[in-house]
Amino acid sequence: MVELILACDFGGTKLSAAVIEAAALAAPDAAWRGHLRRFSPPGATAESDINTMVEMGRELLGGERPSHIGISFGGPVDYQAGVVRLSHHVPGWEMTPLQQLFAHAFQAPVRVDNDANVAALGEWRFGAGRGAADLLYVTVSTGVGGGWILDGRPYRGSAGMAGEIGHTVVDPNGPVCLCGKRGCVERLASGPYMARDVALARGLPVEAVTGKLVAEWAAEGEETAVAILERGAKGLGIGLGNAANLLNPRRIVLGGGLTKSGNRWWQLVRETAQATALPEVKFDIVPAQLGDDAPLWGAVALTE
Ligand SMILES: [Zn+2]
Repeated sequence: MVELILACDFGGTKLSAAVIEAAALAAPDAAWRGHLRRFSPPGATAESDINTMVEMGRELLGGERPSHIGISFGGPVDYQAGVVRLSHHVPGWEMTPLQQLFAHAFQAPVRVDNDANVAALGEWRFGAGRGAADLLYVTVSTGVGGGWILDGRPYRGSAGMAGEIGHTVVDPNGPVCLCGKRGCVERLASGPYMARDVALARGLPVEAVTGKLVAEWAAEGEETAVAILERGAKGLGIGLGNAANLLNPRRIVLGGGLTKSGNRWWQLVRETAQATALPEVKFDIVPAQLGDDAPLWGAVALTE
């Protein structure tokens, strides 16, 4: 009998699922046997998203039972208990026993973790982190999140909150963040915050500017966009350098839309991180390789 692994990704606005044969994982170019993606409609709830995901899993499995299920969730998760704490995108997720619900629906063992930890695991097992025993993965997108692999294993911390580099303070006199503190990495370096700062500085409507537009304007040399994007890159670099000083990872992998901000952004992040860390603390900062499928590949790695 062929052993099948079901991977699921609750991404906030979209739901993805894929099935892979366990035997295929040994190959360097392992490919999905089936892959589905659906948008979570406006008005979606935890219950409707769970029902959609179970349907997608059943469709992919075609009546077969999976040997394991791995789930990536876009929000805080109690990994040990297999419980979703809450979602910032979809209502009704408070303390949902997702592991138990899927174990019951598919009669298979299930592991659930938050998307940053899962993506870290995915990049380490199948992507840009291969070969590194110690790794920090950071996604720089609408938010900034991170996950650790230490000594070849995910490190989650005592409450599953390790890797929250987005809310480390790199400028105590900086602008106020959603979390209430000033000058967090996320406040300086995430797409929506940079877009808002550029819009306000240029007297534009806030909804007219996006993180992508800030990167495009900066590439064209528009002064405000250059200044805000560079402030963000330096803020991120300070955060990464401090993290490297604490745990000395061999490699730092950066994913998310903001990593497409061009060479100058990468150069500033790398230079600032290296200048922040001690000279003996050496590391590479490299782009993620798995793209949108990182949580699904990580979900597969979670089952191993
Ligand atoms: Zn914050």
